[in-house]
Amino acid sequence: MRPDQFPAFIQPDLIPRPGGELIYRCLGCGDAYGIDALHYVCPRCQSVLLIEDVDFVRHKDRSAETWQQIFDYRQMLSQPALKGIYRYHEFIGPVIPLESVVYLGEGHTPMIEGNARLQEAVGVRFYFKNDGQNPSASFKDRGMASAFSYLKFMLDSGKIADVLAVCASTGDTSAAAALYAAYLQDKIKSAVLLPHKKVTPQQLSQPLGSGARVFEIPGVFDDCMKVVEKLSDTYRVALLNSKNAWRILGQESYAYEIAQDLEYDLKDLVVVVPIGNAGNITAVMRGFIKFFDAGIIDTLPKILGVQSAHANPVCRYYREPEPARRRFKPVTVKASTAQAAMIGNPVSMPRVIQLVEEYHRRSEAQRTCFIEVTEQEIMDWELQANRNGHIACTHGGECLAGLARARHKGLVRSNETAIVDSTAHALKFSGFQEMYFANRFPEEYQVQPRPELINTPVLVRPAGLDRFPQPGEPLEGEAFQEFVEQVSREIAEQLGLVKR
Ligand SMILES: *Cc1c(COP(=O)(O)O)cnc(C)c1O
Ligand SMILES: [Zn+2]
Repeated sequence: MRPDQFPAFIQPDLIPRPGGELIYRCLGCGDAYGIDALHYVCPRCQSVLLIEDVDFVRHKDRSAETWQQIFDYRQMLSQPALKGIYRYHEFIGPVIPLESVVYLGEGHTPMIEGNARLQEAVGVRFYFKNDGQNPSASFKDRGMASAFSYLKFMLDSGKIADVLAVCASTGDTSAAAALYAAYLQDKIKSAVLLPHKKVTPQQLSQPLGSGARVFEIPGVFDDCMKVVEKLSDTYRVALLNSKNAWRILGQESYAYEIAQDLEYDLKDLVVVVPIGNAGNITAVMRGFIKFFDAGIIDTLPKILGVQSAHANPVCRYYREPEPARRRFKPVTVKASTAQAAMIGNPVSMPRVIQLVEEYHRRSEAQRTCFIEVTEQEIMDWELQANRNGHIACTHGGECLAGLARARHKGLVRSNETAIVDSTAHALKFSGFQEMYFANRFPEEYQVQPRPELINTPVLVRPAGLDRFPQPGEPLEGEAFQEFVEQVSREIAEQLGLVKR
């Protein structure tokens, strides 16, 4: 629909205009810095930052109903800049003019309800939100669309020129960064650092295909992160890890979409997210808090953060029930099938600690919990989900395993509904499925396949045939008839088919 075709009352608010007053806020010393320079940590105390809208109170001038109508009507617009995360422009990047918005099809991923069988197995009603249906097949595109729109805004307004964007990655950050950089290649080049052999072949193929400079580093993600931090401290590069606060802003869209898709009624809702570098859970909590503070929603959903026992620093921190006695200690990670979350020293930990406190301050009850699961549970739940019509990655399996455990322990009640984050597409992690089916998991993963979940292809090559079709050498005449006859008979036997 064209803007002039909308009802008159919505027209003034339909297309957002640049506004607000964004600053970087340091989580350590509380200092503020203008956004006309690129900052990743506080120049004074080196702590991580979040972007704050100093004029946030203006959002309360609109009623909940007006906001809901604005977002709902915007769904009907055909403007690319408002088709993705910037449908929520006022909450994501109010200073960014729509001309600077980079849209590659990210956001507004579907929520798919589990079928009766799977919901019964989990013990509670739930939906997968399929963030693997983003353009580079993970939720990282949400944050990249925001970070790149900001960079484009800075380029368009002449504040920076010739950007080299760098990131360290467990695979998906680099795939997303390289995709957006390839689109803007006249102005932005990208280089990505990956832990050698710790990303899947599919993930490695993505930045290579997008034309990024790809560097493989011995070690794990935490080691790559240190190198990238050194690069961004020493050289003129744009850092694209979730340490970059613009990434967090974009990923808040996940929370806004859930609110909108549930008609802004978040009573008895549990939102389940996997935790790696903790950027995503930061963004999800922050998104719900911002909608709550603006009065758009009146309940904060319960947040359930899930980690593998092989990479569990956040769960360990929250194991201590007494807040004053909690101490953060990085862990040494072990091999995990939730490989994109295989991180022992999450960069966003200070953000999580602050947001969990803010979350509790706003809601009467304990509204965040953290749970760890085994590698075995991750694989079993992923495969079981996909056998029931989903496209969950291992992290989606991790979340579902966490939900089942939380339900079992009474942390989730039977009247609640959960949204489970499948953060990437199943195909990115199909190698783990192959290892499971072939019972070839290296010892360190500690995964034993359950026979009823194994599936392998059957080669049909009837013993009575001596000739088979080949590319470029088809069979003809009687030989072909015989081939079709015998192959059909063998398949019918294996399937136990009855003649009609
Ligand atoms: C990055 C990533 C995670 C972890 O998200 P964080 O923001 O690092 O906590 C989980 N799943 C997938 C598929 C990812 O790419
Ligand atoms: Zn500071």
